[in-house]
Amino acid sequence: MTDRDNRDALDGARIETLAVRSGISRSPEGEHSEPIYTTSSYVFNSAAEAAARFAGEQPGNVYSRYTNPTVRGFEERMAALEGGEAAVGAATGMAAILATAMALLSGGDHVICSRDVFGTTTNLFGKYLTRFGVQVDFVPLLDTAAWREAVKPNTAMLFIETPSNPLNEVADIAAFAQLAKDAGALLVVDNTFCTPALQRPLAFGADIVLHSGTKFLDGQGRCMGGVVVGSREHMAEVMTFLRTCGPSLSPFNAWVLFKGLETLGLRMEAHCRSTLELARWLQAQPEVQKVFYAGLEDHPGHTLAARQQSAFGGVLAFEVRGGREGAWRCIDGTRMLSLTANLGDAKSTIVHPATTTHGRLTPEQRAEAGISEGLIRVAVGLEHVEDLKADLRRGLDALA
Ligand SMILES: *Cc1c(COP(=O)(O)O)cnc(C)c1O
Repeated sequence: MTDRDNRDALDGARIETLAVRSGISRSPEGEHSEPIYTTSSYVFNSAAEAAARFAGEQPGNVYSRYTNPTVRGFEERMAALEGGEAAVGAATGMAAILATAMALLSGGDHVICSRDVFGTTTNLFGKYLTRFGVQVDFVPLLDTAAWREAVKPNTAMLFIETPSNPLNEVADIAAFAQLAKDAGALLVVDNTFCTPALQRPLAFGADIVLHSGTKFLDGQGRCMGGVVVGSREHMAEVMTFLRTCGPSLSPFNAWVLFKGLETLGLRMEAHCRSTLELARWLQAQPEVQKVFYAGLEDHPGHTLAARQQSAFGGVLAFEVRGGREGAWRCIDGTRMLSLTANLGDAKSTIVHPATTTHGRLTPEQRAEAGISEGLIRVAVGLEHVEDLKADLRRGLDALA
């Protein structure tokens, strides 16, 4: 470390600066870019030092399932970006959600989870946590009355994702934070879609923010990862779960995510700009019945998103005529977009939610959630927007 690396220099720094400068701990080699510490364990200078480290009486690394300098750098940077006291990296986004639930819930607790969250999150809460005595209710994200009615004396956690996938429904985080506070529960927000470049849920009163780093934080589809951000006290619990149960973030993946954060702001700006332009263009195409993007003035979540987010995100959905057959024909008619359910990549992706991401729901559940057979989701990447229009035009032409 040199004087120039002093963290005080970042007091009051803006998010773009924190994304590049926070979380750095330079080794004695003086490297400019951050090294990857690919080590499973650490050595001690004496038996007494080993004993002190193991006992937690002396700070320092013991084993990479517990701590690793590369992982710590990513954690510090994420805490800085989300405005939280501490962060904990995890192997995947699901590991981050699992760790949060296991660390902060007990048998007998009640969770209210938005119906409109990532499908695997629904399975984690509904299929597994319920086996261990956690009660779970799923409530439509925007049904405020149902959320209030669902609160019980043992409600310990509210879990939401905003904007929702793929319809871009926008939840009022501050209102959810108030509801959680009144219920004596924690508000957990999955911020994967916005990233801290667009939305910082802790500033609106959320207790915990978590991410699938696999998406926009990496931004180039290279690795899996997750992270949880919150108070020091809560993160100590999450950390203890992870080091005990194992789904820790690998140093290599932490490094990919750490470097990915350096370009997060610029990438999100480009994703959002192209998505808005594509949304407007799609609205004007005769084959398109409806476009779902909170950046459009006629989207019900527009005003709230404009207040709560600095831009509208990189994912949109649109409905074509002809139900499933129409949607499949349109998707198969494109030539460049990647046909995959991933998102938050430099490469744009296109997918049919009703038969992939939301395929396990019953037709009734899908209808209730607004996932129609003609719905197509596009996660907009970093290609030139005119080339994306040209490819989607090919898809729409296939409907003729
Ligand atoms: C992908 C995703 C997850 C799960 O993350 P993994 O890294 O795939 O485990 C959780 N929440 C949201 C919103 C996601 O998009």
